[in-house]
Amino acid sequence: MTRKAAHLISHSHWDREWYMPYERHHYLLTELMNDLLDVLEQDPRYRYFHLDGQTIIIEDYLQVHPEKREQLEAYIKGGRIIIGPWYVLQDEFLTSSEANVRNLLIGHQDAAKYGVISKLGYFPDSFGNMGQAPQLLKQADIDTAVFGRGVKPTGFDNVVIDTNGSGYESPYSEMYWSAPDDSTVVGILFANWYSNGNEVPVEAEAAKAFWDKRLGDAQKYASTPELLFMNGCDHQPIQRDLGDAIDTARSLYPDVEFIHSSFEQYIDALKKQLPDNMVTIQGELRSQHTDGWGTLVNTASISNS
Ligand SMILES: [Zn+2]
Repeated sequence: MTRKAAHLISHSHWDREWYMPYERHHYLLTELMNDLLDVLEQDPRYRYFHLDGQTIIIEDYLQVHPEKREQLEAYIKGGRIIIGPWYVLQDEFLTSSEANVRNLLIGHQDAAKYGVISKLGYFPDSFGNMGQAPQLLKQADIDTAVFGRGVKPTGFDNVVIDTNGSGYESPYSEMYWSAPDDSTVVGILFANWYSNGNEVPVEAEAAKAFWDKRLGDAQKYASTPELLFMNGCDHQPIQRDLGDAIDTARSLYPDVEFIHSSFEQYIDALKKQLPDNMVTIQGELRSQHTDGWGTLVNTASISNS
């Protein structure tokens, strides 16, 4: 039987200011980070946390808790808190091209202090993606991007239903993405959003219902048996009992390898198995035909992504 793996990647997508003023979100951010350090300290089963691809979170936190610097640094250097590559998560169409370049450079400068950086083009909540992103990423030695919008996955049991010839569709959640200069990265769409592994139940009956649905949804689009489950959502607190939830999942599904994973681990496993029939999408990703997730391109009425 083919090995099937469920990669749970813990994160919290952080809008620094959105439906509440900056300081209220900032307050919640300090709680999130305090909880994160606590759970990393206490539970070795909680292996990694993806810090939303934006290094500014580190300065926001240390501004309030400078005494935590050493502890935070140790987890970043040890690879359990994963930072970068951006300084902030920008809306790619509302900022200038040069700002997008500087954003990546500053993120790299910030991460250089720790000697580690996530080499992943992280665009979880961007309302469409800029056409030259693959070129920019490749020049920063990044060959993979993840994003939540701009492409419609058409797969159902991995069969293409209707591509309409628009160039925005992919049969899988995985695809190649090319810039106008032909720089190409592997693109991964959060086809079931970046919360498809959020709040995983510990109790067996609830966990069975949760995983039956979520495993099915992920397999609908996945091109390989490496399945991605994002354990988090917008401003989502740490799931402190995730270790127990994973233990429950393992006992319920002996044929699935549940891993508290990192993007690096997931992408390494994925790349070994990518199929030959992946499509290449070109340039700007701004399809409005995604399932319920309109791209709202060039819309400034929400503060950021
Ligand atoms: Zn957002």
